[in-house]
Amino acid sequence: MRPFSFARPKDLASAVTLLSANPNAKFLAGGTNLLDLMKEDVERPNALIDINGVGLTEIKTIASGVNEGGISLGSLGKNTDAANHSLIRRHYPLLTQAILAGASGQIRNMATNGGNLLQRTRCPYFYEVAMPCNKREPGTGCGAREGINRMHAIFGWSDKCVAVYPSDMAVALAALDAVVLVRDVTGQERSIPIVDFHRLPGEEPEKDTNLAHGELITAIILPRNAFAGKSYYLKVRDRASYAFALVSVAAALETEQTNGATNRIAKVRVAMGGVAHKPWRALKAEQFLVGKEATEANFRQAADAEMADAKPLEYNRFKVELGRRSIVLALQMALNGGRV
Ligand SMILES: Cc1cc2nc3c(=O)[nH]c(=O)nc-3n(C[C@H](O)[C@H](O)[C@H](O)COP(=O)(O)OP(=O)(O)OC[C@H]3O[C@@H](n4cnc5c(N)ncnc54)[C@H](O)[C@@H]3O)c2cc1C
Ligand code: SF4
Repeated sequence: MRPFSFARPKDLASAVTLLSANPNAKFLAGGTNLLDLMKEDVERPNALIDINGVGLTEIKTIASGVNEGGISLGSLGKNTDAANHSLIRRHYPLLTQAILAGASGQIRNMATNGGNLLQRTRCPYFYEVAMPCNKREPGTGCGAREGINRMHAIFGWSDKCVAVYPSDMAVALAALDAVVLVRDVTGQERSIPIVDFHRLPGEEPEKDTNLAHGELITAIILPRNAFAGKSYYLKVRDRASYAFALVSVAAALETEQTNGATNRIAKVRVAMGGVAHKPWRALKAEQFLVGKEATEANFRQAADAEMADAKPLEYNRFKVELGRRSIVLALQMALNGGRV
């Protein structure tokens, strides 16, 4: 590992000031991703600003304003605490399932909510510094484009990068229409809807997100919704645990009995992981389903509508059928309280 300086500020303003003053500095939260990448020589910060002393660990109900009744998750709270908190279990079980589907108990005890959103791709060419990688070193090429791309994207990729974004938590957050709150060096706070937080690779795959250097994630807002009774996170992977998703689906439904329909879909959210450079909102599937009966036949047509646009690579054609089946199964599980 290369040498770096280390600071542990006690408040948010000092943390943001220290980072803004140095373009090669990085915030350190749980360290479960950043330190691995530093040991592999992929990330090379010359200064670490440890933000574990600045607070921001609270999980609370929002008492007023546009998000009244929703929940605020402090960015420096641990993934374990978020998954197990009674408010999250009761109102956002989809998020609990997604967090618990990721990593291991030990890693979730260290990993923070903000750090989880900013974890970097698991593309093996990104980790291997002897290989070309436009994300790690812009302009060097993409090893995976013509290489072994079994784990890579089927939606939204560019010739510059075909990587997928690995977080499970963020897929559930995309389905829940979460909002990321960030603070800059002037003290200004801005809100970024989770769907706009991560980027597609385009011409600049080195940029994973729309966060600017010096901005610190303070909280993740979960708007109030009525999905708790009908939601499900399905993760398909090579091993039953401790593996990243080949494909995952976060599905949430709100149904009603109107106009003679027994189970009419009033609201639906479908987001996918393991298929793109960002959590992929399956908007075509959602558009197809709104107003229709919640039946397996309709779930199948919705999945077909979404997957029609998939553009698989040489080694990941299986993800198209896997994605289709996963959407159907996740919606069925959501409808039936976790059973089919
Ligand atoms: C073996 C292993 C298996 C894993 N499996 C899974 C899995 O199956 N599913 C899954 O979703 N994840 C998995 N993970 C990833 C894990 O969830 C992430 O490493 C973790 O969530 C990162 O959080 P952290 O707090 O440790 O981040 P750090 O490593 O501390 O930071 C990550 C990045 O975020 C930045 N950062 C951190 N906090 C903030 C903030 N508040 N504001 C601005 N920038 C910030 C840091 O500067 C850094 O660039 C796995 C990790 C390991 C090591
Ligand atoms: S897919 Fe992206 S991360 Fe992987 S080698 Fe290509 S440019 Fe690098």
